[in-house]
Amino acid sequence: MRLEGCFEIDQPQSLVWQKITDHSLMAGCIPGCENIEQVNDKTYNATIAVSVGIIKARFDLTIEVTKEIEPNEVHSRTSGQEGKRASMVTSENLVRLVAIDPGNTRVDYISDVSVSGRLGKYGLGMMQKQTGKLAKEFVANFQTAIDPTAPSSPSISPQSTDLSVWQKFLAALELNFGRSQNKVVTSSGTINEKLLSPKNVKEATQMLVAQEDRIPISGGATLVAMLNANLIEPAGLVSLKGIDGLSGITQNKNGSITIGAFSRHAETANSNLLAGSLSGIKNAASKIANPIVRNMGTMGGSIAFADPAADYAPALIAAEAEIEVVSVRGNRRVKVQDFFVDWYKTALQPGDMVKAIHVPKADPNAVGYHEKYARVEGDFATVSAHVILSMNGETCNYIRIAIGACGPVPVRLVEAEKLLAGKSLTKDLILQAGRMLSEACDPVDDVRGSATYRLKLIPQLLLTAVEKAQRQLAQRSPA
Ligand SMILES: Cc1cc2nc3c(=O)[nH]c(=O)nc-3n(C[C@H](O)[C@H](O)[C@H](O)COP(=O)(O)OP(=O)(O)OC[C@H]3O[C@@H](n4cnc5c(N)ncnc54)[C@H](O)[C@@H]3O)c2cc1C
Repeated sequence: MRLEGCFEIDQPQSLVWQKITDHSLMAGCIPGCENIEQVNDKTYNATIAVSVGIIKARFDLTIEVTKEIEPNEVHSRTSGQEGKRASMVTSENLVRLVAIDPGNTRVDYISDVSVSGRLGKYGLGMMQKQTGKLAKEFVANFQTAIDPTAPSSPSISPQSTDLSVWQKFLAALELNFGRSQNKVVTSSGTINEKLLSPKNVKEATQMLVAQEDRIPISGGATLVAMLNANLIEPAGLVSLKGIDGLSGITQNKNGSITIGAFSRHAETANSNLLAGSLSGIKNAASKIANPIVRNMGTMGGSIAFADPAADYAPALIAAEAEIEVVSVRGNRRVKVQDFFVDWYKTALQPGDMVKAIHVPKADPNAVGYHEKYARVEGDFATVSAHVILSMNGETCNYIRIAIGACGPVPVRLVEAEKLLAGKSLTKDLILQAGRMLSEACDPVDDVRGSATYRLKLIPQLLLTAVEKAQRQLAQRSPA
């Protein structure tokens, strides 16, 4: 994987050169890099913590400066391994300075990173999602470090004990790497103590906090694959299977719908309660993977994992859902747009579990449609477009649109919806709204498509979604 980019500093090149050849300072700017120790004038040891969703890793690194070409080029090599485990990381790095004018310098950086071992396959894809964010954090740290007028430059000397934003995040989650007590050996390697089977929600929440690093398991569609790949090492699994009040889709007195967190995708795909404006949720469920995964996976597990390419997220954003979260601290409801926080990151805190998903009463005169473009049938989306559409004759009464797989969280843009509301939905107008959404999205390149390709797909996918929704409305008998 290649990390590449540039940024500008309003300082002369000579000053920037001085800073980039201060290698411990540079290392200190890398998010998650700590315990920096100078071995000789060209070699440093350090540790770096990375965390993507529930995957956490800590690497012991050696950073070696291989070439300095004054006044503007530094080459370095990084190599290291993940604790006592098998993952290895190597990178070849280049930083080049370009003087824009006497007071401004552009810093170009390229880093070719390769990761092998447990993080090499699945984990690398997930880590790749974080690269943009990591690069931004590095740039922010470096800019603060280099600007002598900055009010509080971060302490980034080798002896530094200051925590980067990244480390603070890890500390906030009270992560403790390298725990290895209470493990048993299973066919897939060393994993958890055992599977715990609580009888009710209260017991489940108590079990989750009774020992550090216990996590819930629902359908296991994602989690079991990660355990098998030795990507995660939770201290224990709390099974949510069979718990009363966690399954089933019900209608409340006020017409709103409650979807139990343990409701499997197949059940959601067949629910008659998800009708009218909510029919797109049913539609999204029916487009997840294949019948095996749909019979295993649950809505709670899917949204808790928060894969940015998952199908429910845009559907629930468009439906303006609320997520009911429960823990020993009590119950709370989180608006879905506040629930999805970042790549594989939600508002869930350690000890929390999703209890239910609440969606407001369906509008019987509207229709929901989930359009998904995937490389092959059954794959995660390259791009998805979820629409909820209400028409008044030839005029759009209202529309809600959410785009999935094009950034850390689904994108909803009220301006694009306003552009269409109250108008006849011509092809040109829909494509215009699609282009507005493209501009608001921030996808990354990955195995399912490049960022550029995804952005180009959005307007066309929106057009298809709206046309299909219109067709469904036209086929309905008048309400
Ligand atoms: C081959 C394959 C293809 C797939 N394709 C798609 C696709 O096209 N579209 C799509 O949207 N998804 C797809 N998925 C993902 C699928 O929808 C999973 O079911 C879902 O991601 C996880 O649901 P689960 O119930 O199996 O969760 P689990 O695997 O049990 O858990 C996943 C994560 O969520 C946590 N968790 C589980 N339940 C809760 C809860 N109630 N509260 C808090 N945390 C919880 C777990 O601790 C774990 O971290 C695919 C999966 C596979 C294996």
